[in-house]
Amino acid sequence: MTPCCRPACPDWLAEHWEEWGAEFAQRLAANVSYCFSWKQWHGQRVNQRLLPLLSAMTEGHCAYCDWFPMDTGTDPTIDHFKPKARFPHQVYCWDNLYLCCRHCQEKADDDYTDQILRPDEPSFRFAVFFIYNYSDGTLSPNPDASAVNRERARLTIEILKLNSRGRPAARKREINRFRALAAAERSTWIPLSPFRYLLWDEMRESPSV
Ligand SMILES: [Zn+2]
Repeated sequence: MTPCCRPACPDWLAEHWEEWGAEFAQRLAANVSYCFSWKQWHGQRVNQRLLPLLSAMTEGHCAYCDWFPMDTGTDPTIDHFKPKARFPHQVYCWDNLYLCCRHCQEKADDDYTDQILRPDEPSFRFAVFFIYNYSDGTLSPNPDASAVNRERARLTIEILKLNSRGRPAARKREINRFRALAAAERSTWIPLSPFRYLLWDEMRESPSV
C-alpha cells in the first residue's frame, strides 16, 4: 500500500451519490440477492467516468497491493472499501471507492472493520505500520508500532489478503529486478513498477549497485 492523496469529489457525484446509494439500498432491502451494477449517467456508466479519476489518485496502481500495470488478468476495477452488502448507502460515496486489481477485489468483505488502513488516510505511511520480510516476501505489522497500529496492520494484511495470492513471491521478484538496475535507472523505474513502497526504501538503503 503506497500513500496517496484523494482529489475532491467530482461535482456530479457529490450531487447524486446519496440519492443513488439510497436507491440501491432500497432495491437490496426488497431483494437480498439484488446485484449491484453501476448506473448510467449522461450516456456513460459511472464506473467508466470514475476510473480515470481514481487511477490518477494512485498513479494507475492498485490502491491496496500496489500492483502495476493493470493489464490482462488484473484489469482495473473499482472497489467498494466498505462492502456493498453491509453499506449499501455508500456504494456511490466518493471516499469509499478505490482503483483495485482483480486479486484484491477478492478481499474478505465479511470481515470488514473500520480498522483497515486506507492509502489516502492522511497519516498513513507504510513504514509506520508494516515491515517487509526479505526472506519470504511477506508483510508483517511493525513490531515498533503502537499496539493499536500493530492491530490495524494485522487486520489490513489479513482482510486485504496482502500475504496471499502470489503477492509475496511477486514482491521478491520485483526487488531482485530492481537491484539489478543501474543506479541511474532506478528513480524512473519506480513509478512504473508494483510495490513502490518497497522500492523507495530499497533505493535509500542501497543507493548504488
Ligand atoms: Zn491489488
